[in-house]
Amino acid sequence: MVDMATADTNGSSSLPFIATKGVTKTYRRGGVPVHALKGLSLTISQGRFVGIEGPSGSGKSTVLHLLAGLNHPSEGTIRVDDCVLNDLDASGRTRYRRSMVGLVFQQFHLVPTMTARENVALPLLLSGVPPNERTSRAAAILKKVGLGRRLEHRPAELSGGEQQRVATARALVGDPPLLLADEPTGNLDAETGSKIIDLLARVHREQDRTVLVATHHVGEIEHHADRILHLRDGVRAAPT
Ligand code: ADP
Ligand code: MG
Repeated sequence: MVDMATADTNGSSSLPFIATKGVTKTYRRGGVPVHALKGLSLTISQGRFVGIEGPSGSGKSTVLHLLAGLNHPSEGTIRVDDCVLNDLDASGRTRYRRSMVGLVFQQFHLVPTMTARENVALPLLLSGVPPNERTSRAAAILKKVGLGRRLEHRPAELSGGEQQRVATARALVGDPPLLLADEPTGNLDAETGSKIIDLLARVHREQDRTVLVATHHVGEIEHHADRILHLRDGVRAAPT
């Protein structure tokens, strides 16, 4: 594991893939401000596998949701590749999310009435990909994550680890350059969780994708991560 608290660039003059500058996020809860992020500046090079470590409430999900374009910062700027997220209107954000970002959540968020294949094909449906291509691409990626024999199973007929594999396949089916995983092992036992982390690491290695994984348990990612960002109470902390 290499831990670099300083700016991470790839040594060339090209811009880092992700750059945030002075990002704050303040939520309001019953009129009371909650300062979830208090000025986050970071750069991440293309193709890195980065862990975001911090206890519950430190701002991990907030960072990932901002990078996914699901939420706006209160202050500061966020750029991913050549998209300055602050400048995008609603349709620009939708396009950004569909083309650039794959998201994996702790709670899987699969559609219970759909088969594994239909769940994975769903983002392609939303992007207007024709039915035959949707079906074949969904099947191919499910095979890649080791679920070639579970294509027609519904979520309730799958184990937790299998459901998270389906969710990972769904995040990858549009071939996004950025994969964001928010405590992807939080609902899994340690052994199954470590297989999911192995899968994310493989996806990173084989496709040269930028992968960010939030976790409150740094031990599960430190063997794979190029870099770990430590978050404490909405700010970056020195490595512990
Ligand atoms: P983590 O993912 O590390 O647990 P979060 O980013 O979810 O942290 O939350 C950071 C802080 O912001 C916490 O204090 C949390 O309670 C608060 N928070 C998160 N989302 C909201 C929201 N939608 N409304 C109000 N407060 C929120
Ligand atoms: Mg969270």
